[in-house]
Amino acid sequence: MTETGVGPDRAEEIRQNISVVRGRMRSACERSGRDPESVRLLLATKTVDPPAIRVAIEAGERLVAENRVQEVRPKFEALADLEYERHFIGNLQSNKINALVPYVSCIQSLDRLSLAKKLQKRLEREGERREVLIQVNTSGEESKFGLAPEEAEEFTREVSRFDALEIKGLMTIGLFTDDVELARPSLRRLRETRDRLRELNLDGVGMDELSMGMTGDLEVAIEEGSTIVRVGTAIFGRRETSDSFYWPETGRPAD
Ligand SMILES: *Cc1c(COP(=O)(O)O)cnc(C)c1O
Repeated sequence: MTETGVGPDRAEEIRQNISVVRGRMRSACERSGRDPESVRLLLATKTVDPPAIRVAIEAGERLVAENRVQEVRPKFEALADLEYERHFIGNLQSNKINALVPYVSCIQSLDRLSLAKKLQKRLEREGERREVLIQVNTSGEESKFGLAPEEAEEFTREVSRFDALEIKGLMTIGLFTDDVELARPSLRRLRETRDRLRELNLDGVGMDELSMGMTGDLEVAIEEGSTIVRVGTAIFGRRETSDSFYWPETGRPAD
């Protein structure tokens, strides 16, 4: 990845976009009687070059996430002089764990036990821990990764035994639709699942985070309780690579 820099117009556009998104978040918080501090903005930076990400961080953003392991390290290195939190939100194959773990503090896409076991093993060896969110498929669409809501309780119980994994809450992608109201039930389902899991009071399990809401549905997600909205397009513009590249249609990887 080369540092080509961004022109002043592009930089200004990114800053403007951030303030528009921040405004949308604030209005949604006001409408739903929530403290604006209770929702964080995560920049979903797949395909975005480091200079553009730098503009956003220098404008005050502090939370950035990638979808593909291959993009994680080059960007980490290009932006190593900046202070920000790095998460992973993509489908993680077990054979990529070693290439990812050194560079992120939270993996939001934990969706299977085989992966949890391998993460535990790798982290244990280094005497390290990582935060995780459990990814739930709330829309029932085959193409989305994540556990079914009914599987979440048993899965959370199992993962709570892995002391290198600090469970913080849940993540979902939600239903894709042009009518955001149609996304609401899937987003609400994540909150209901979280509330149920929270009542179990499992040892060492935090259930505060709800990572949901993207460019199209962040308002609805905030109204439904989101604590992390993940935004790419509204800040960096449309991506050339189709999202199906990141969310393959073949279901969960076998490993
Ligand atoms: C790309 C992506 C986002 C952001 O999507 P936009 O519609 O561009 O805001 C959020 N979450 C995940 C998991 C993504 O891959």
